This record gives sequence, structure tokens and C-alpha cells, in this order.
Amino acid sequence: MVIKPKFRGFICTTAHPAGCAHHVRQQIEYVKSQKPVQGPKNVLVIGASTGYGLASRITATFGSGAKTIGVFFERPAANNRTATAGWYNTAAFEQAASEAGYYAKSINGDAFSNEIKRQTIDLIKQDLGQVDLVVYSLASPRRVDPETGEVYSSVIKPVGEPFSNKTVDFHSAAVTDVTIEPASEQEIEHTIKVMGGEDWELWMNALQEAGVLAEGAVTVAYSYIGPEITHSIYKAGTIGLAKDHLEASAGRIREQLQALGGRAYISVNKALVTQSSSAIPVVPLYISLLYKVMKEKNLHEGCIEQMYRLFAERLYYESTSVDDRGRIRIDDWEMREDVQEAVLALWNQVDSDNIRSISDIEGFRVEFFNLFGFEFPEISYEDEVEAEVSIPSIA
Ligand code: NAD
Repeated sequence: MVIKPKFRGFICTTAHPAGCAHHVRQQIEYVKSQKPVQGPKNVLVIGASTGYGLASRITATFGSGAKTIGVFFERPAANNRTATAGWYNTAAFEQAASEAGYYAKSINGDAFSNEIKRQTIDLIKQDLGQVDLVVYSLASPRRVDPETGEVYSSVIKPVGEPFSNKTVDFHSAAVTDVTIEPASEQEIEHTIKVMGGEDWELWMNALQEAGVLAEGAVTVAYSYIGPEITHSIYKAGTIGLAKDHLEASAGRIREQLQALGGRAYISVNKALVTQSSSAIPVVPLYISLLYKVMKEKNLHEGCIEQMYRLFAERLYYESTSVDDRGRIRIDDWEMREDVQEAVLALWNQVDSDNIRSISDIEGFRVEFFNLFGFEFPEISYEDEVEAEVSIPSIA
């Protein structure tokens, strides 16, 4: 079929297999162009099919020569519907890994469930014995509690008071004011249940009890802080409270890993265009201005550059530098004073008339389409393509 982007709200409901494969190859080429990392050897990535998790998997494989198991929740093509981008990404990743002689297997299913944890542990035992790195990179709107079956949904809302600020519709580049009402107590609790650290702890307990964590094993989960402009909707909002919980989980996991001489980290990453971040009000406008400033200062990074730097200059460096709360900061360039001053000055001016000249809204838009395999000049989108693509280890 000929595949074009189709939208429901901010979600793109189609994905292009050749475009996704191209995107994955670009990331692999980036890592191969860098110095090898004396990094992990056997890696489990939870949330491995898109965004930061996929970039972590690519870095582990092509930067450190690691064997990887990736867990994710994606949909294959069926009945005239394309697969999701994460499905096509993984098909392309596994193919490239196998061509280069690297072990890579994937598990598609609900990472919050006991069943998927069990399947993953069985696969580690069967093929790898133990893992020495566990990357936890889930971003999900809902979670079914594995014990009670209760469904929890996360919301992105301020806490305590309504929040008003500018936002952008990145399709039309219209800048408008938005007011978001504060979350209820229940919404806060549910968001913490979905995006906090409870499931990360369940994973780490299950892996340790099963004896599949190697001596000195490392685990990392990803967080975001960001500037004042986004605090009410992010850091001090429902998602920020969930990230505080994730941080507290890191402390508990760290203690638990002491028996193995292991390490547990939160890595605070840069704001980037991913399927998850595009859904947050205000954030796409901030990212468009941030990209403009960081590109001008030659500091711009995407997921793969961030993850390579995390592995090469933090996790597997002589010593892992952390902030006063024990967190790895690869948002250091985003948070630089000169960068934030420049973004804030633009933030105060930006409107629908000047957005195309003072922000990188076009860069945001193109990167958003790229996430689904669209808008790569190298791909002929008028050509027929086979939508049904299999992931070698799942087929
Ligand atoms: P993403 O949407 O690109 O990726 C999410 C991954 O989770 C996918 O692989 C998806 O398949 C998987 N997933 C979702 N629900 C699942 C489930 N029930 N079972 C199994 N897999 C499931 O997200 P991302 O932006 O890369 O975010 C990853 C982490 O990085 C999140 O913790 C996020 O808060 C954090 N982070 C993101 C940014 C940003 O700007 N995007 C910045 C800093 C930190």
C-alpha cells in the first residue's frame, strides 16, 4: 500500500516501514561514527521500541557490542492498518543487529504485567544467563495493576492551581493561550501509579530474586526537570510528582542492589520530540524555542546523541558524575544559563506571527513526522510498500 500520515488529535495513526527503518539506520550510523564504549554486555531495555529506550538499545548494541532483550508494547500491521512506528523500528533494528552479528530479541506485551516479567526472565535465563544493565524507559498513559487488575490512567495537569501559558499547535503553528485545570487527588495518585517507580521496583525485585542480575549490575530510569516556564505543567505537576516517586524508587533499588555491588540511577534527560512529549501542552512550544537556541549554539542533540553521551560520558565513564541528589544530568546543556536566558527572551515575544522566524517550529514538525517514518527526503512516499513487516525474533 501507499502509506501517508493520518492523524487523530496529536497522535499519528499510521507509520511508514521504510521511513522508520531509515530513522533507525541513521541512529545506528551515528553510534558507529563515535568511539566505542567499554560498556554493558547483556542488556534489558524496558520500553525499547521508540524514543530514549530505542536509542539506549542502539547505543548498547552498536556502541558496546552488547546483546539486548527489548520489551515494548507495539502493534503489528493488520487489516489494512499499518503497524506502529515502534514495531517497524524494532524490525529494522533487529535486522541490522543480526547483520552485524549481534544478539537481539524482543518481547511485545504489557511490561506492567507479571506475565511479561516472567517471560523476560525466562528468556534471560535461556539465552543470556544474566544481564548487567537494565534500562527502564516506559512512557505510558495507563497501567493495569498486576495484582488487583485495577486500571490507572495518567494525566498531565498542574497541581493545586490552574496553569495558564502559551502553547502551540505544531501543525498550524498557531500560538494560543491555554489554561489547564489542576488535577484531582485521584488523578495525582493515578499518575504516580502509572509513571512513578513502582513498576521499576517490581521489575528489579523480580530480576534480582530470579538471580538474573549480574554482579555490579546497573539500572537507569529517565526523568525530566526543565525550566521555570514548564514547571507548573511538568516538574510541579502530576508528571513531576510521579518522577519524584521514580527518584525515591531509585534510592530503594540502590540499597537493594548493594548486595550485588550494583548501581541505580535516574538520568535527567533533555526535552526532545517523542510521541510522549508531543502530547504535553506548552512543551512543544518550549522545545521549538529550545531547538532554535541550541542549534544556533551548536549544542543540539537528539535521542541518540543524548544516549551515546549517557553511556560514554556518564554510566561507563571512569566515574559517574551526579548532582547533589545523586542524579545523572545530561540535560546539562539544555539547562545552561545562556541557553535558558535566550529561550526565555524568545518565550516572552513568541506569537503566531513571529513563530516561524524566532523558533524552530518547522524542526519540531519534521521531527514529529520522522517519529512515524515520514518526511525523510530519502524515502519515496508515493511508492507502494509492504505494510506487514515481521520482527525476526517475534515472527
Ligand atoms: P516514547 O513514547 O518514545 O517510548 C515509550 C516506550 O514505552 C515505547 O517503547 C513503548 O512501546 C513502551 N511502552 C509503553 N507502554 C508500555 C507497556 N504497557 N508495556 C511495554 N512497553 C510499553 O517515550 P520517551 O519520550 O522516550 O520516554 C521514555 C522515558 O524518558 C520516560 O520516562 C520519559 O518521561 C523520559 N523522558 C522523556 C523526555 C522527552 O522529552 N521525551 C525527556 C526526559 C525524560
